[in-house]
Amino acid sequence: MIRAFPSFDAIRALVLPIPGFGDLLTSNIYVLGTGPVTLIDTGPKFPGSFENIGRQLDEAGFGFRDIERIIITHGHIDHFGLAVKMIEAAGRPIPCHLHQDDIWRTSNEYIRKGLWSDEVLAFARLADMPAEAVERMKRRSAFFKNFCDPLQNILPMNDGDIFSGSGFEITVIHTPGHSPGSCCLYEAGEKVLFTGDHIIKHITPNPITEIHRSLLSDPDYQSLRSYESSLKKIEGLDVRFAFSGHGEYIDDVPGLISRYRSHHENRKRQILELLQHEDRPIYPLVDELFPDIPQSEIFLAVSEIYSHLEVLIGEGRASMSRSGPPALFRAAEPSIASIR
Ligand SMILES: [Zn+2]
Repeated sequence: MIRAFPSFDAIRALVLPIPGFGDLLTSNIYVLGTGPVTLIDTGPKFPGSFENIGRQLDEAGFGFRDIERIIITHGHIDHFGLAVKMIEAAGRPIPCHLHQDDIWRTSNEYIRKGLWSDEVLAFARLADMPAEAVERMKRRSAFFKNFCDPLQNILPMNDGDIFSGSGFEITVIHTPGHSPGSCCLYEAGEKVLFTGDHIIKHITPNPITEIHRSLLSDPDYQSLRSYESSLKKIEGLDVRFAFSGHGEYIDDVPGLISRYRSHHENRKRQILELLQHEDRPIYPLVDELFPDIPQSEIFLAVSEIYSHLEVLIGEGRASMSRSGPPALFRAAEPSIASIR
């Protein structure tokens, strides 16, 4: 189990174990206020997880009826999956807030109907993904969507919005990258930053390529480029503890951010190495970069390579030599690594 979170009068962490859910370890839900309370994220709708959260809320002296609002850091199912069940248990509507660029992810159309748009198939062709890999990606996505209920009437929240209650005041900081609508929440009094999946102590969050760009406020959104500027956005804050959506709390945010930066730079160099001598599509690079990757994670690998290529192209270090499909890429110059 992870080490205990520091405790505050008006900030509590509820920690939900999520075995079998990648290497995320836990889903963390935060309870703000001394009553009524604000929830940050809900955890996924796993068997037993609703009851587990109910018990932990009860131990803190609250019930679902005491929740006055739910703030969702981003629209991934492990962050909003239990919202509907909590609203049912409260016996009245609870306002749910989420950045508008992620609201479509929580909709019935996306969760239950799949939204397998032409954009997805076009991306798969662009990346040269074989049909069976696309089918696996669809099946995996459909499987995970079982762990949530679709939400309705979500209230859009924006950068700079402030939410307050008894003993706390948090400011919304839009930090796109892990998803287009990802947000952090800053409690300046206690110097606590709630980070969702923007930064996580034990893993480097994947700035997942957003395929449905036509649904975003910025159709030119590039996940890793946005992620890199979102790291700068939180870097300047005075943070004693960062409370993330998974795993342990973080007490050295600048150290973690610099680890992320070297991870991204190393990955960029590895990709450039593979594109030194020939123009290549994305999919064949997966095997070389991630030889042990399980088949179920292939899309994440393709996404990681694609998002790094977008940044490399922006930096003038790679180019798309054929727009395809499949698109072909090449290194623009000998990489620093190969000169050494
Ligand atoms: Zn996430």
